[in-house]
Amino acid sequence: MTYEKIFHDIYDDLKAVEDIGQVADYIPELANVNPDQFGVHLTTVDGQQFAFGDADERFSIQSIAKVPAFVMAYSWIKSEIWQRTDLEPAGTAFNSLVQLEHDRGIPRNPFINAGAIVVCDILVSVLASPKENMLSFIRRLSGNNSINYNPLVAHSEKKTGFRNYALVNLMKSFGNIKNDIDIVMDLYFNLCSIEMSCKELTQTFLFLANNGVVPYSGEQILSPSRTKRTNALMQTCGFYDEAGQFAFKVGLPGKSGVGGGIVAVLPEKYAIAVWSPRLNKKGNSYKGMLFLEEFTTKTKLSIF
Ligand code: GLN
Repeated sequence: MTYEKIFHDIYDDLKAVEDIGQVADYIPELANVNPDQFGVHLTTVDGQQFAFGDADERFSIQSIAKVPAFVMAYSWIKSEIWQRTDLEPAGTAFNSLVQLEHDRGIPRNPFINAGAIVVCDILVSVLASPKENMLSFIRRLSGNNSINYNPLVAHSEKKTGFRNYALVNLMKSFGNIKNDIDIVMDLYFNLCSIEMSCKELTQTFLFLANNGVVPYSGEQILSPSRTKRTNALMQTCGFYDEAGQFAFKVGLPGKSGVGGGIVAVLPEKYAIAVWSPRLNKKGNSYKGMLFLEEFTTKTKLSIF
């Protein structure tokens, strides 16, 4: 199948659709991105690659990085992770405080901000050098040693991250943050600042389409059962209060970030990433969602 031709056709169709989204400017550094960039990349589990547009341009992956962080914690501390975070869809915005008070500091899932902050706290407890260890883990997943944090983005978010500080303080008051808040948040903001291209994202996520095995190295990151569960979490929680829409319209487990990236996997087949910086009101890429909806419709391939 010529995926590149399909990419072209969908891109042409979407040109006619006005991009009503807005770039994320609550993190000042993210407002500097050229909003008209657009990239797509697909890598199959047997190594074929298909690219379109700005597929090699790096951007801030933001909340997409919550998945590798969770996977790292999940592979270390196994099922105790579920005493620190729940695994249900939140149905609220990614940075909402409302439910957290009611749930006594236990986040609804590891892919909302509160959940990812708890994951960072777990990693700070178990790793000798959390920032370095996290980065080398992500480099191992991607098979790419040049992937890095962007200190400007991390700093920009740290200075304006009042809501994230509110989340961590609330959880600390309930005893669900064990370490120093500043150390935990430094890891969280750096994690969100990681930059990758669409191509690098597909390579990083390919193990989730491959029963937990990184195809380039043969390394088993998660057991097939835990891989299935991670995909289930992406399906139910990867798009915050739009997870239902994404399942309904696209039908793939995936994860979005406020940098405008979305990555999704079709188990046994491929990982696909799309990048379009303007976001809809839920903080997900406006055209990225439309693109993936058309893609699974045209290819008739989804998990449903
Ligand atoms: N760094 C962002 C934040 O904490 C991540 C949010 C996202 O990508 N949805 O607000």
